[in-house]
Amino acid sequence: TKPVHIVGGGLAGSEAAWQLASAEIPVVLHEMRPVRGTDAHLTDGLAELVCSNSFRSDDAENNAVGLLHKEMRLLGSLIMESADINKVPAGGALAVDRNGFSEYVQQKIETHPLIHIEREEVIGLPPSEWGHSIIATGPLTSPALASAIHEATGADALAFFDAIAPIIYKDSIDFNVAWFQSRYDKGDGSDYINCPMSQDQYYEFIAALLAGDKTQFKEWEANTPYFDACLPIEIMAERGPETLRFGPMKPVGLTNPNSPDKPYAVVQLRQDNKLGTLYNMVGFQTKLTYGEQKRIFSTIPGLEKAEFARLGGLHRNTFINSPDVLDGELRLKNHPHVRFAGQITGVEGYVESTAIGLLASRLTAAEIKSSALAPPPVTTALGAILSHITGGADAKSFQPMNVNFGLFPPLEGRFRKKERKMAYTSRASSDFEAWQADR
Ligand code: FAD
Repeated sequence: TKPVHIVGGGLAGSEAAWQLASAEIPVVLHEMRPVRGTDAHLTDGLAELVCSNSFRSDDAENNAVGLLHKEMRLLGSLIMESADINKVPAGGALAVDRNGFSEYVQQKIETHPLIHIEREEVIGLPPSEWGHSIIATGPLTSPALASAIHEATGADALAFFDAIAPIIYKDSIDFNVAWFQSRYDKGDGSDYINCPMSQDQYYEFIAALLAGDKTQFKEWEANTPYFDACLPIEIMAERGPETLRFGPMKPVGLTNPNSPDKPYAVVQLRQDNKLGTLYNMVGFQTKLTYGEQKRIFSTIPGLEKAEFARLGGLHRNTFINSPDVLDGELRLKNHPHVRFAGQITGVEGYVESTAIGLLASRLTAAEIKSSALAPPPVTTALGAILSHITGGADAKSFQPMNVNFGLFPPLEGRFRKKERKMAYTSRASSDFEAWQADR
C-alpha cells in the first residue's frame, strides 16, 4: 500500500499516524521541528504540550470532554494511552507529566515499523502524487504552508487570530429581561437575543471593562498584527465611553417587549450552532481574564445566571473555515486527497485536536480499504464535534470550539438540571456502542 503522508507530528498528527499504522497502512510523518521551530514549542518531541499539562475533566458521566476521553480510549487512542500511563494527581482532571507523555508517544511512533518520520518543513499543499494526505500542523502552522493553504482555500478561509467572544448556553439566559429580535426586524425578525442596559448600567459596565484584569500578550503575540474588525471590547472602550454604544452595543432598531424604558445600550447574542443551543456575544472578543469575564458579563441584564460554553480570548491561531471548505469526511472540497486534522480545523484544545486526528485517519483508512465508515453518531462526543466543524457551525461566524453539551442534539423529554448531563452521556454511550457494533 502507498503510504499516507501526515504533515505535523503534534497531538493530532501523532494520533493519526498511530491509527493508520494500527490499521496496517504505512505512514510518512513530516515534522518540521527541530529544523524549524514554532513560537510556543520548546522541544523536538512529538506530541509536545505547549502550555498546560491538563486534558481537563476525566468524568465521562458528567462532562463532555470526559466523555470524549472515554470514546477515544475505546478506539485505541495512543494519546489517551500515553496520558493514562503518564498521569499525575489532579483531582477529577486528567493531567500528565509532559515530558514522559511526549517521550512515550515519540517512542511508540519511532519504533513502529510502518511509520517513517521525516524531519522537514512542508511548504506547500501536499501534491496529488502523495495520494492520501492529512494536514495537522496546528495553530502555529509555518508561514509558508499557511500561505499555501490560504491560496487553496480562498480569502476568508484562514484566520490568523482567534478573536474569541464568549459563547453562552441559551437556556441559561433570562427571557423575562432579554428578548429575541433582529435590528429593524431584518432576516426572519428574531435572529438575535438582546439584553438591554440603562444609562447607569452602561457606564458602570464600561468602568468595569476598563478596570478589569487582562491577560498579558506574550511578546510573539504582541508582534503579530491584528485587524480592527476583531479589536478586544476593552480596547474599544478605551477609545471613549460612547464607542461601544455606537458600535456593537448600539440600541437602535430594537423594541424591548419586556419594559417600556428605551435601552441606552444593548448587548446582542447571535446563534452559534444549527441546533440553536449556543449563542455568542456579538463583538465581545476580549482579553479579560476568565474570572473577570464571568464577573463582569454576569452584570449584563438577562445574563445574571449565564453559563458559558466557552470564554473569550485572543491569541494567534491558524484555522480554516471548516464548515465552508471541508466535506463531511474532513476532505478539502477542492483537493479531496487532502484531509485536515487537529486545531487547524477549528476545534480547540488538546483532546479535541487529537480527536479530529483520530477521525481523519480512520476515515482515510476506510477510504483506502474501500470500506465505508459511517461517521460516529452526532449524539456521541466524537460525532458532535465532527458534525459541528463540518456543517453544524455557522460558516460566517465560525470560531474555534471546545467539545460541550451544547453541540449535542437536545434531549427528548424533560430532565432536572442535575440529570441532564447524565442523560447526554448515557445516550452517547449506547449510541456509540451501536455504532461500534455496526462496523
Ligand atoms: P500541534 O500540537 O501544535 O502540532 C502541530 C505540529 O505541526 C507541530 O509539531 C509543528 O511543529 C508542526 N508543523 C507546523 N507547520 C509545519 C510544516 N509546515 N511542516 C511540518 N510540520 C509542521 N490547548 C489545551 O487544551 N490546553 C492548553 O493549555 C493550550 N494552550 C495553548 C497555548 C498556545 C500558545 C497555543 C497556540 C495553543 C494552545 N492550546 C491549548 C490549543 C491546542 O490544543 C494545542 O495547540 C494543540 O497542541 C493542538 O494540537 P495539533 O496537533 O492540532 O497541533
